[in-house]
Amino acid sequence: MHENLIPIRQAVIARNPGESEFHQAVDEVFESLGPVVARHPDLLESAILERICEPERQIIFRVPWTDDNGQVHINRGFRVEFNSALGPYKGGLRFHPSVYLGIVKFLGFEQIFKNSLTGMPIGGGKGGSDFDPSGRSDAEIMRFCQSFMTELYRHIGEYTDVPAGDIGVGGREIGYLFGQYKRITNRYESGVLTGKGLAWGGSLVRTEATGYGTVMFAEEMLKTRGQDMDGREIIVSGSGNVAIYAVERAQSLGAKVLTASDSSGYVMDPDGIDLDLLKQVKEVERARISQYAERKGGRARFISDGSVWDVPGSVALPCATQNELNGRQAKKLLANGVEVVAEGANMPTTAEAIRLFQDADVLFAPGKAANAGGVATSALEMQQNASRDSWTFDYTQQRLQEIMRGIHHRCAETADEYGMPGNYVAGANITGFIKVARAMSAQGLI
Ligand code: NDP
Repeated sequence: MHENLIPIRQAVIARNPGESEFHQAVDEVFESLGPVVARHPDLLESAILERICEPERQIIFRVPWTDDNGQVHINRGFRVEFNSALGPYKGGLRFHPSVYLGIVKFLGFEQIFKNSLTGMPIGGGKGGSDFDPSGRSDAEIMRFCQSFMTELYRHIGEYTDVPAGDIGVGGREIGYLFGQYKRITNRYESGVLTGKGLAWGGSLVRTEATGYGTVMFAEEMLKTRGQDMDGREIIVSGSGNVAIYAVERAQSLGAKVLTASDSSGYVMDPDGIDLDLLKQVKEVERARISQYAERKGGRARFISDGSVWDVPGSVALPCATQNELNGRQAKKLLANGVEVVAEGANMPTTAEAIRLFQDADVLFAPGKAANAGGVATSALEMQQNASRDSWTFDYTQQRLQEIMRGIHHRCAETADEYGMPGNYVAGANITGFIKVARAMSAQGLI
């Protein structure tokens, strides 16, 4: 890390004790910024970096709700409005028992640079709750979402802060959240949330966008070596929104996806994942992944110990959660001949694993770049809402593809410009940072 950045990093850690995921996300960006400090010292004037690391606003609130047996539960809600230099705060809501302020801040911090990279007019924010939706009835989910929005509504708006989904928050939850927002405010303000249903302001391709975009980014990286996805064996982790549509896109390009996982274990299907069955088990029934192997039969197996990264393949797509691919697992993937790693999830790869991939000349795409198709398509949903329009699937997918190509191009070009060809981590962090820093600088000390 550049010596000028070390005291700033130490101050961030001292100011945000115990938030290890946030520290990790800050470190990853700071490790990339050395050449920027050397070339553009002006960009660090008026404490730009110190300000970028301090959220503009952090909201923490009580979320009381009643389960189907009449028992009262209390959860904690969060919204971190991190940076609005480029546009309204934009980023998802995560409902998972592991959520605490450090997780929301790591995600919000990443979101600043990701959103900047997309080229769209959106700032960075993130939110969520330590609520555990697993095993809850639809009625319980609805009551929780209504209680959550009863506080959140006063902080958001189409020009202020526009939440979306993330882990544990999909179309069903966005529906309940939007309904409650509309009821409290008496406004049909479509642009206040993204990931809405198609009949009420949602955008075609938003559901598919993060997974499709991740594979599009992998395709762009492969193109730089004159290669493509056709005939490759792919290892995917997760079986939620991002994973399912990464599988769909990879298969449409002629690849064979061998794995999918959830927090109970993974399935290995040597004949290639049956996408319809995966969608039925995980999207429709919200069942455990073992059900896939049970119903598929044949050579498909459920494995509850070990990890997807034990399975050989030339492309790895971590699409579940943070820090799910560590140094030991990276060594295994390398021994098995991995050539491409593209992060569908946010920060799924540890710093040690990233270094190992980069040292081995693996094409490595950080989530900030590779999974930015989701938020970019959310911004397209906001555009459609603002113009009271709805675009076709083909047109929206074409826009997504152009955006992913643009992100790849900007990352690769910046990495070259700063003397680190092929380093997409540095390319993404530097490109994302410079645009935000310039905007903050122009807007004065706020
Ligand atoms: P979903 O809730 O749809 O799916 C999450 C998947 O990851 C599930 O299979 C879940 O398994 C698994 N998972 C979650 N936590 C853990 C854990 N601690 N250990 C093992 N498996 C786990 O979420 P998404 O697909 O939307 O999100 C996945 C990742 O992609 C996250 O990192 C998210 O931040 C990121 N992302 C999502 C975007 C989006 O548009 N949805 C946009 C950009 C990034 P189980 O069901 O057992 O919990």
